[in-house]
Amino acid sequence: MNAPVTLPAVRTTCPYCGVGCGVLARADGFGGATVQGDPDHPANFGKLCSKGSALGETLSLDGRLLHPMMRDSHGILLRTSWDAALDKVASGFNQTLEKYGPESIAFYVSGQLLTEDYYVANKLMKGFLGSANIDTNSRLCMASSVAGHKRAFGSDTVPGSYEDLDQADLLILTGSNSAWCHPVLHQRMLRNKETRGAKIVVIDPRQTSTTDDADLILQIAPGTDSFLFSGLLVHLAATNCVDRTYVSTSTAGYAEALARARHIAPDADAVAHHCGIPVAQVQTFFDWFCRTERTVTLYSQGVNQSAQGTDKVNAIIKCHLATGRIGRAGMGPFSLTGQPNAMGGREVGGLANQLAAHMGFAEADLDRVQRFWDAPAMAQTEGLKAVDMFEAIDSGRIKALWIMATNPAVSLPRANAVRAALAKLDLLVVSDVLERTDTTLAGAHVLLPAAAWGEKDGTVTNSERRISRQRAFLDAPGEAKSDWWIVAQVGQRLGFKDAFNYPNVVSVFDEHARLSAFENNGTRDFDIGGLAGLPAAAFDALPPSQWPFKASETAGIERLFADGQFFTNDRRASFIAVAPPRLAESPTTSFPLLLNTGRVRDHWHTMTRTGKSARLSAHVEEPYLEICPVDAVSYGLSDGGFARVMSVHGNATVRVIVRESVKQGTVFSPMHWSAETCSDGRIGALVQPATDPVSGQPELKATPVSVAPHVFAQHGFYLARGEAAPPKAAWWCKVTVEGGTGYRLALTSAATAMTDLAANCFKGTGLAEFTDETHGIYRAMVVQNGRLEACLFLSSDGQALPNWEWLKSNLADPVLEPDTHRALLSGRAVEGASQGGPIVCACFAVGKTTIEGAVRSGACATVDDIGAHLKAGTNCGSCRPEIRKLIACIAANAAFEPAQ
Ligand code: SF4
Repeated sequence: MNAPVTLPAVRTTCPYCGVGCGVLARADGFGGATVQGDPDHPANFGKLCSKGSALGETLSLDGRLLHPMMRDSHGILLRTSWDAALDKVASGFNQTLEKYGPESIAFYVSGQLLTEDYYVANKLMKGFLGSANIDTNSRLCMASSVAGHKRAFGSDTVPGSYEDLDQADLLILTGSNSAWCHPVLHQRMLRNKETRGAKIVVIDPRQTSTTDDADLILQIAPGTDSFLFSGLLVHLAATNCVDRTYVSTSTAGYAEALARARHIAPDADAVAHHCGIPVAQVQTFFDWFCRTERTVTLYSQGVNQSAQGTDKVNAIIKCHLATGRIGRAGMGPFSLTGQPNAMGGREVGGLANQLAAHMGFAEADLDRVQRFWDAPAMAQTEGLKAVDMFEAIDSGRIKALWIMATNPAVSLPRANAVRAALAKLDLLVVSDVLERTDTTLAGAHVLLPAAAWGEKDGTVTNSERRISRQRAFLDAPGEAKSDWWIVAQVGQRLGFKDAFNYPNVVSVFDEHARLSAFENNGTRDFDIGGLAGLPAAAFDALPPSQWPFKASETAGIERLFADGQFFTNDRRASFIAVAPPRLAESPTTSFPLLLNTGRVRDHWHTMTRTGKSARLSAHVEEPYLEICPVDAVSYGLSDGGFARVMSVHGNATVRVIVRESVKQGTVFSPMHWSAETCSDGRIGALVQPATDPVSGQPELKATPVSVAPHVFAQHGFYLARGEAAPPKAAWWCKVTVEGGTGYRLALTSAATAMTDLAANCFKGTGLAEFTDETHGIYRAMVVQNGRLEACLFLSSDGQALPNWEWLKSNLADPVLEPDTHRALLSGRAVEGASQGGPIVCACFAVGKTTIEGAVRSGACATVDDIGAHLKAGTNCGSCRPEIRKLIACIAANAAFEPAQ
């Protein structure tokens, strides 16, 4: 093997969340890379969270879709040429258009796309195919924020910058688990708290790692945010905290909005009653907001993913408008975007209810964009939003669909119905980096291999309107291509050669920038005319830049609305009279609990990238249901057991975690697991399809469900070197581990299932096994050349299983020591063997047991002590709340231990 080549570091941007951290990536010359935070990027100044830090571990080609594939006449997907695949896509869409018209076709795209990919796809659909049926998984992310911004400001504008989080004296996080979902920004807020004394308020039905850092926690009932913020507006008016000059000169609709707020939440008592929290907490919150001018209110999915998400956003914004706290340093409403390029998608019009460059479907906008594109077939009205789009597929109105860079068969509400609907299409095209996802396996006729992070080149925009470059540092493998290139090729094959004749990604960005400035004259917020006409070298060197960035300026603008001028017709911001809060579906006798869905710290979306990292996979390995102790007793669930979770739309079987912090009557489950990673953990299958009437964003936070214990006859683990297919167990969950693949298993009937499973797992030679049918114990392992190749451990009560962390470590070891070999056969860890426990700090791979040991030994008493001894918590900091909890737990237990 040749010596590794040291290549220069390439400045690029993290592909996960909307914080948009700068990354320095250095390819190793063998298809991998090392990464570190970019110290010069203003989003993160060198910091990365656990996910960003592990990017180098996710670059393997395992599972990659490397060549175009097309279904043959027998329904089998076979490799084909790019020409044949592109011809098929173009002819398929053309035939569908001719036969059924523009409403019969659709694109479902993604906040993972680069802005240039998004721009070309949007242009093809809305300007040349005559349909606005292009929507995006960003509909599930921040569509309610977009709609709320447009109603209030006349434009989809995030007014502030991350610097405001450094300068605020009060940071209100509502519906946001930023400690896990935007970790680098969360740590930035904590630094403000530590250095300047900023207070943090967290408003959330669920206690999370974010609430651990709060000075005030308002654990409100699900869906009651607008009670709280309506009550706050009433309180601001009653206590003379309203900036009457600002309201009279820069806003409209205050009186109506206040009257409505009084109707919804006349006083603190009413708020406390509706939100289910003590009135003293409400009063403290109101008081802090009133007397703290520098207040930023941050919101994300807990607000957006709601059937009343747009109203919630407007309820928040109007408190800032009433106090004039917007557009100035350290204050304002702040939407935290989930996706890496949700904002870029909004810029190009990637949502079905936008046209392009922050223009809509008004006559003047349609005319302007048509002239700019020289478009022959402009869509005249809004298209179908995500949930409606998949209903139209189900009912047969949409016949041809192109999905790019997303996995709707997992992430959309009623995911089973979505998956089934995909199979009904005449033409399903999927562009993806992976060959096997729930979506590619749902009946795709054409698979197109897309370039992945590290291989593609273009721009993304983060939550503070900052456009950053994603730069390639690896060659695209196989025949993978950039998405913008793929779409442009189809556009050309459809007869639009000139309009889609882009020689390179710079030419796409340039057209996008020119459109943003075209006949703008200050009438639209999104204007990056100052970035138009960049030579290739300047585009390549483009530093992170905020928009707007006008042709007349030499830099972007950090804050908008400082002059009290907005983008409405009268230039005033609008107070919106919001509707009284109510749940889309209330609990019933049959479905008595409300299911909240969300994310875990170290995984992203459907795990197609993070699932490749053993380190990230070790933090949370299985889908689970969080439930409070009272409800757990009521429904017969026990901590560590399994629950069957059921709604009218679907079911899942997941591990039970009993937590005091869960609000009674609610349960929580993460959304990451797919049919590729768990036999029965698709939580999206349960979620109701209700959407916000304005934004179309689905309600992902409050689905009525029932729960029941699910008892298996046996539990166990299966580990195999390299990639391994799922064993034939009744329930399994796949985990990437060092050196191979792990499965956590459960079986329904003991003896026969046990032998069937063993036969399924071990087909080779060298098997050593032990069976105790009386006690339901089975152990088997294959060792070749002194190396553990595979092992299977089953036990009827789960107690006789070896330590899972120890077991995993043996697969990582190149050669088994003789005592380890014996220990594996006996099913017990070697005495004194390192058993770090489940990973707490993913950055430095420090486990729970190690941390607990350090505390119990007396070596560490604080989170900083742990950092000093074990490094845990000293990089991204997102595990610090967990470490703090572990320390507190040990201290609490010690207090109850009898004195010796
Ligand atoms: Fe990536 Fe983490 Fe930064 Fe988000 S906070 S952009 S996931 S490194």
